[in-house]
Amino acid sequence: MSAYGGVEAGGTKFVCAIGSGPDKLETEISFATTTPRETIDQALAFFREYQQRKELLAVGVGSFGPVDLNPVSPTFGYITTTPKPGWVNTELLGRIRRALGVPVGFDTDVNVAALGEATWGAAKGLETFAYVTVGTGIGGGGIVNGRLMHGLLHPEIGHMRLPHDFDDDPYRGACSVHGDCFEGLAAGPALLGRWGRSAEELAPDHPAWSLEAHYLALGLTNLILTLSPQRIVMGGGIMKQTTLFQMVRRNVLQLLNGYLQVPTILEQIDQYIVPAELGDRSGVLGAMALAQKAVANLR
Ligand code: ZN
Repeated sequence: MSAYGGVEAGGTKFVCAIGSGPDKLETEISFATTTPRETIDQALAFFREYQQRKELLAVGVGSFGPVDLNPVSPTFGYITTTPKPGWVNTELLGRIRRALGVPVGFDTDVNVAALGEATWGAAKGLETFAYVTVGTGIGGGGIVNGRLMHGLLHPEIGHMRLPHDFDDDPYRGACSVHGDCFEGLAAGPALLGRWGRSAEELAPDHPAWSLEAHYLALGLTNLILTLSPQRIVMGGGIMKQTTLFQMVRRNVLQLLNGYLQVPTILEQIDQYIVPAELGDRSGVLGAMALAQKAVANLR
């Protein structure tokens, strides 16, 4: 059976899978992200059996970043200036392509998760939408006019600057670069730093969640006003606190203050800001969808 390979290359773990969709996942493994050599070799070993049987059609890679997505750049397909020790300037795409000899698609982890949701999940059929993941960091990507969002580099939604009222929230923020950017105020490390407890340890009625919803809504409102997405899909560990969704939606409506007079937002916000349908698999399935695109692009 010919199939596609997907790699979700995360800063904490790599997930690799072979298949052709959510109902056709043949095999999947995950392992810790250690050194680049050891980790990439482990991914290659996973695919080699399929490659040797000539059953591997292509591989898609969604990587933590920042990454170089400019096809004419000498470091195209590299992880570039990442804060992750040992991974600065790591070639990923080229190594995988040379070792396996199949087409390889490459994009950011969040764009690839967005592609998964666009192909099989909560964003099917949409031309323009945003995907935001909230976990140990905040990342965002998506599709604009039918194409994955690229530009000078790629969106870094997690580092947007948000208004921060120090009287209400004296916590200075957890981002090593900016302190109180979006991620610095609202990702997992911020919850732990501010409240001394991780997201899993915070009860659903803890005041942490209303503040969290406030920051998430500020971030989403900026996205709604700048990108005009047809929907916002949210994933990541923090969003497993499902009561957040209602609070975020309410806060977004308050922040917009009636400015956008469209039924999609005013009347159907429950279908406008939604959880990722593929759950924790958005990334690895999206990587498979990217592999399919890599083959289609050759035709
Ligand atoms: Zn930042």
